[in-house]
Amino acid sequence: MDVSLLLDGLNDKQREAVAAPLGNYLVLAGAGSGKTRVLVHRIAWLMAIEQASPYSIMSVTFTNKAAAEMRGRINELMQGSLSGMWNGTFHGLCHRMLRAHYLDAKLPEDFNILDSDDQMRLLRRLIKAQNLDEKQWPARQAAWYINGKKDEGLRPQHIETFSDPVEQTWLRLYTAYQDACDRAGLVDFAELLLRSYELLKHSKHIREHYQARFKHILVDEFQDTNNIQYAWLRLMAGPQCNVMIVGDDDQSIYGWRGAKVENIQRFLNDFKDAKSIFLEQNYRSTGNILKAANGLIANNNERMGKNLWTEGSEGELISIYSAFNELDEARFVVGKIKEWQDQGGALNETAMLYRSNAQSRVLEEALIQAGMPYRIYGGMRFFERQEIKDTLAYMRLIANRHDDASFERVVNTPARGLGDRTLDTIRMAARDRGATMWQACVALLEEQALAGRAANSLRRFIELVNALEDDTRDMLLYQQTDEVIRNSGLRAMYEQEKGEKAQARVENLEELVTATRQFEVPEEAVEMSPLSAFLSHAALEAGEGQADDFEDAVQLMTMHSAKGLEFPVVFMVGVEEGMFPSSRTTEEVGRLEEERRLCYVGMTRAMQKLYISHAEMRRLYGKDNFHKPSRFIREIPQEHIEEVRMKAKVSRPASSGRFSQSVVSENFNQTGYTLGQRVMHPKFGEGTIINFEGSGAQSRVQVAFNGEGIKWLVTQYAKLQPM
Ligand code: ATP
Ligand code: MG
Repeated sequence: MDVSLLLDGLNDKQREAVAAPLGNYLVLAGAGSGKTRVLVHRIAWLMAIEQASPYSIMSVTFTNKAAAEMRGRINELMQGSLSGMWNGTFHGLCHRMLRAHYLDAKLPEDFNILDSDDQMRLLRRLIKAQNLDEKQWPARQAAWYINGKKDEGLRPQHIETFSDPVEQTWLRLYTAYQDACDRAGLVDFAELLLRSYELLKHSKHIREHYQARFKHILVDEFQDTNNIQYAWLRLMAGPQCNVMIVGDDDQSIYGWRGAKVENIQRFLNDFKDAKSIFLEQNYRSTGNILKAANGLIANNNERMGKNLWTEGSEGELISIYSAFNELDEARFVVGKIKEWQDQGGALNETAMLYRSNAQSRVLEEALIQAGMPYRIYGGMRFFERQEIKDTLAYMRLIANRHDDASFERVVNTPARGLGDRTLDTIRMAARDRGATMWQACVALLEEQALAGRAANSLRRFIELVNALEDDTRDMLLYQQTDEVIRNSGLRAMYEQEKGEKAQARVENLEELVTATRQFEVPEEAVEMSPLSAFLSHAALEAGEGQADDFEDAVQLMTMHSAKGLEFPVVFMVGVEEGMFPSSRTTEEVGRLEEERRLCYVGMTRAMQKLYISHAEMRRLYGKDNFHKPSRFIREIPQEHIEEVRMKAKVSRPASSGRFSQSVVSENFNQTGYTLGQRVMHPKFGEGTIINFEGSGAQSRVQVAFNGEGIKWLVTQYAKLQPM
């Protein structure tokens, strides 16, 4: 392992954090200062230098995407096996723990996860069952109450209602809900955490097992941990554990979900000898973007206070666009992306950020019209759900037998006893003959090249698809859809599955019939069969095929889900009073400050160019609303912004690179030591060179000693022995 790789591309402060002696650390720093980078390098450092086994390391990030990215980056650095390392979100890790100890957690082995849709559906049923008026006792509010209590670690028996009848009703619902979940073996998101916490708390042997196992715990985005997550972490971290947390109080945006920025302070009090490390240099954004964001966040009073600077260029001013309405805004954004593309930029370098999910539809439509692929993060749309895709796959095969993706999807769904071996044989035959899987399959059957049982199953499948087409030829699209759902066996398959999730799937299948019934063939598709027209509509809607993970696509997401990410070009849309800050938040100082932090998060995602737009009129949820530009726009120092019109030309900054400088390469070799070299000091013992400074008689090296911490030493006097 080349240790220099671990320290390459880090500034002095970052190196200090990466190479710090074992212990507890808080890395507190603003957006884009390399916190996540430090965390990744620290993990690699622990394995390479401290000989930590991946098995002894747990790292927690905020989203699955971030977790996957982190794994990828460590892998790149280490090129070794990470197997055994726990790396995921709080929810993901708690889930893993509950699966491993389901008996101790008093869960059935096959417990199911209840997502928020399922939760809402179950609550609605319970509210009805209790004869409560849904208007007065909305499911959404019940969910909010229950999840909030769970985030505080509270079970129904812990809650004191003080005879308040409203609270008593919510509590009754909570109790009924929990009973229903327990009976059916269902676990909601908040429950994953709470139950896992209780497991650690009440089961000494499990707690001791994990405390003995995890010697290193690292947490990204720590400012957004809530009470139960914090409590869980404290139980996971035994007395021997080394914990490094990184975070930014200015990016705390989940207060509404119970996140406690005070956890940062609590960490410093609760964890032995915890030390703070501050990073202040930003590597992500241009000077204009950074100063604008700093100027905005300075309007908040509740801050730990820090300022970011960059060595990068000032870059372009931030463009503000006043749109007439939301359609005009969408057109503007798509037009700018087009310009970016024409100048050689890639689509996935651009991101559209909005305050709430409902804002995406107009943008999506503009993108579809412009023929630009896009991808939405967070939240699954109707046409992306498993049962819908299964049905559509059958419908696609009816329309086109040569659709290999659909063939693969349903050839064994519902199960027909086809094994991987048979499928491999078909795949190979298709490849060898340059045929589609359907063709290969038919040929293999004719040649009697397959074993009896597999051949029978495949023959039945072929006949099924043929029959589905023949039997439905003269039907209307929605009848055809209904027929496919029934005769393919999909409906029966999902009906047999138990629980809320399965019920939801069956409901979705019914909704699909409704969707086909409502579907109007668009003008450009009148030549097509209704089935084909609908399938392309669904494909566009689902974004399937136009935005799988590797494809170049515009990125759409809420500002919340943009946390931790970065893009060369960012569009913040709908930056209007009432939208952002949202009207619910302007009354309370605390909530307004959280909105401002969200705006800060959005702005600091941009590396090279930031556009902010607002619309004077906006139709949302079927109503026209007039909005003033957001106060956040006014709070940005004027010298960093410019108003743009539709025609204004924006050029793509020449270099797409970072604004990085490598301290390392400049100083390389002038001290006679190499970065990452292992050395022995007569007094301090073994250590690793992590930095250089100066040359000749003045040269100094920074060494991370195994026992004595990090020290700067004058090379001339240090008497370091290479090892
Ligand atoms: P956020 O607060 O948004 O999560 P962060 O503090 O985690 O940001 P990173 O995402 O780790 O910041 O880093 C921001 C960008 O700067 C990344 O592209 C990263 O690769 C780059 N970067 C970080 N440190 C350096 C460095 N020393 N030299 C060059 N580039 C760096
Ligand atoms: Mg980060």
